[in-house]
Amino acid sequence: PQPAVPQPVTPPVPEPGARTPEFPAATILGYPRIGPRRELKRAMEAYWDGRAGLAELRETGRRLRAETWTDLARRGLAGQVSNTFSDYDHVFDAALLLGAVPERYRRDTPEDTAFAAGRGAAGLAPLRMTKWFDTNYHYLVPEIGPDTGFRADPSKPLTEYAEARALGVETRPVLLGPVTFLLLSEPTADAPAGFAPLSRLDAVLEAYEQILGALADAGVGWVQLDEPALVADRSADELAATATAYRRLGGLAHRPALFVASYFGALGEALPVLAAAPVEAIGLDLVRGELPDELDALRGKVIVAGVVSGRDVWRTDPARATGQLERLRGTGATVAVSTSCSLLHVPYDLAAETELPAELTGRLAFAAQKVDEVVALAAGDTGAIPTPVPAAAPVELPPVAQRSPYPVRAVAQAARLALPDLPTTTIGSFPQTGELRAARAALTAGRLDPAEYDRIIATEIDRVLALQEELGLDVLVHGEPERNDMVQYFAEHLDGFAVTRHGWVQSYGSRCTRPPILHGDVRRAGPITVRWASYAQSRTDRPVKGMLTGPVTIVAWSFVRRDLPLRTVVHQVADAIRGEVADLEAAGIGIVQVDEPALRELLPLRAAQRDDYLDWAVAAYRRATSGAGDATQIHTHLCYSDAEAVLAAIDALDADVTSVESARSHGRILAERAVHSFARGLGPGVYDIHSRRVPPADEIAAGLRAALAALPAGRVWANPDCGLKTRGYPEVTAALRNLVAAAREVRSAD
Ligand code: GLN
Ligand code: ZN
Repeated sequence: PQPAVPQPVTPPVPEPGARTPEFPAATILGYPRIGPRRELKRAMEAYWDGRAGLAELRETGRRLRAETWTDLARRGLAGQVSNTFSDYDHVFDAALLLGAVPERYRRDTPEDTAFAAGRGAAGLAPLRMTKWFDTNYHYLVPEIGPDTGFRADPSKPLTEYAEARALGVETRPVLLGPVTFLLLSEPTADAPAGFAPLSRLDAVLEAYEQILGALADAGVGWVQLDEPALVADRSADELAATATAYRRLGGLAHRPALFVASYFGALGEALPVLAAAPVEAIGLDLVRGELPDELDALRGKVIVAGVVSGRDVWRTDPARATGQLERLRGTGATVAVSTSCSLLHVPYDLAAETELPAELTGRLAFAAQKVDEVVALAAGDTGAIPTPVPAAAPVELPPVAQRSPYPVRAVAQAARLALPDLPTTTIGSFPQTGELRAARAALTAGRLDPAEYDRIIATEIDRVLALQEELGLDVLVHGEPERNDMVQYFAEHLDGFAVTRHGWVQSYGSRCTRPPILHGDVRRAGPITVRWASYAQSRTDRPVKGMLTGPVTIVAWSFVRRDLPLRTVVHQVADAIRGEVADLEAAGIGIVQVDEPALRELLPLRAAQRDDYLDWAVAAYRRATSGAGDATQIHTHLCYSDAEAVLAAIDALDADVTSVESARSHGRILAERAVHSFARGLGPGVYDIHSRRVPPADEIAAGLRAALAALPAGRVWANPDCGLKTRGYPEVTAALRNLVAAAREVRSAD
């Protein structure tokens, strides 16, 4: 039995000075926004291509928001949220809210401003983008300087709040909190050395005060301020800033009730700070964190208990969740049931998946099902939630042999490959054309004969090889035309994985991924990539890199079983990749790239847990690659990973050549001391592929010279900073032409 669809009513506007409104018993911290069928992605791309106007884009957003509120109301969720929608990125939305957008991106509409910042334009590089904590979502890094002006613009939360209200749905607007906003920001280019964005807290708080006042005027009862930065290690100054911020916002006479949400881990030393602040509700991630000991300190506040995971696709363990809720209620606290974080990181609805094995479906919950769980737990009605699979005993995998030291390998590889100085290469994928996508869709739908599909792939590989030869690249790739996605492709060919049809999750802007579900023991039934790699190598005299995804990344970008320790799962995957490396080698492939772009992403937010993680993650990578002979060159690739934080671990991967992000962070990595002692080949990406912009040859040459100045001679590679899959051929061809020209120019100048 489902509650009836809500009827439009206008909830009463609370009197100024009224008592704190009741916090709903069941709530979520946020919801997916890209659309159940990626409607927003399509609408954005149509707008960018000029196929649709702004009015159509806005209408799509309005319709998606309305559908979400209506669906969640139908599911019985009282604690609904607004302002969780975003046209491009919610962190950039916070910069818009505060009027703190860098001048160079300002356009007439907030959408165009966000798109300019996210995508760049001719002659305008986009904002730096990086991962949202330890998720695979990327946000645009706000730039804050000593002179940044702040001007509150609450129009977006007000509009969304009013929209929901017109549908009869009372919502809690969600804003990024002031402390997290400033901690995620980086100094503007002209800021003095040592400038910390957090030093602008006063000015930012003034803007938040105006925003809270405007929300109160509109009748908002509760507002949610997201402070996930508080679950990482924070300095005494940062904790003091947190105390200041919430003392000030809580002290406002005219404001909604304040709910400060923490997520992605336990609050630790920030808990007493928030407990002492005059805020009415505090959110705890009780999936990643256990119940804190200092519950007494929270007396008088609503505890929003995040017992339903927003980070995985598994059903909640009802015993654990109800146990936690009971203990909380036992302290006399007012408790609301919630998700551990926004549901942004999980797919919309399991009901859309009709091809998953029933045994697996019974264990799964996507966003809609998580809402049902929250509602059921709040009602004390957990009978429908099945008990999860019990934990299996961790198995230690047998040790494997390691490779010869790098100097020995380097000699063998130089003899075999005979590459010039400053070798040019790409990261693996070439643009995925509409024809390729259409062919794959037709194959999946059974409308295209597999032999015909293979012919299309072979033709594409020939074309991509010919282009690379014509451009003059030194190490070629086959272009990955047969791969929908660097993780999903492997998941489809390994035992122990299931893939979804509609399980899209937003990665950044209009980009989504469909994380596979790793639910059983991972095994490789046979070679996965050897066929196309050897086909490509048979068509050219230049070396072709075999292209594999690393074990940490395969696991990081999948939803992973919880009944085994993560390290055991990663090592199982490593063994499968090890087998694939051996098969590529046996087929005569001389260079194998094993990508690990997610190495940084899984780094624990707390420093105390990092060494342990890096130990097993590095061990997994070496397990995957150390079977290669000395003359086989192992490459790895990491991107948008703030590689600075894990440089020592990257070095420990022991890959012969490493390509990293560098273009969008303006070569920042080269300033790192650890880079100077980097003992192996390094390709600091000199072409930012996350933008349509074609970098001029002299800009690339400058990047290469900077790398040569920082790194040991003879170790520098020239390459883009990621795969070219999402780009178009015209810009890729022009950019790679500039890359080769720049490498030649720099080579001949030496
Ligand atoms: N080899 C992959 C590609 O080129 C790497 C992608 C990535 O790092 N995200 O597409
Ligand atoms: Zn990459």
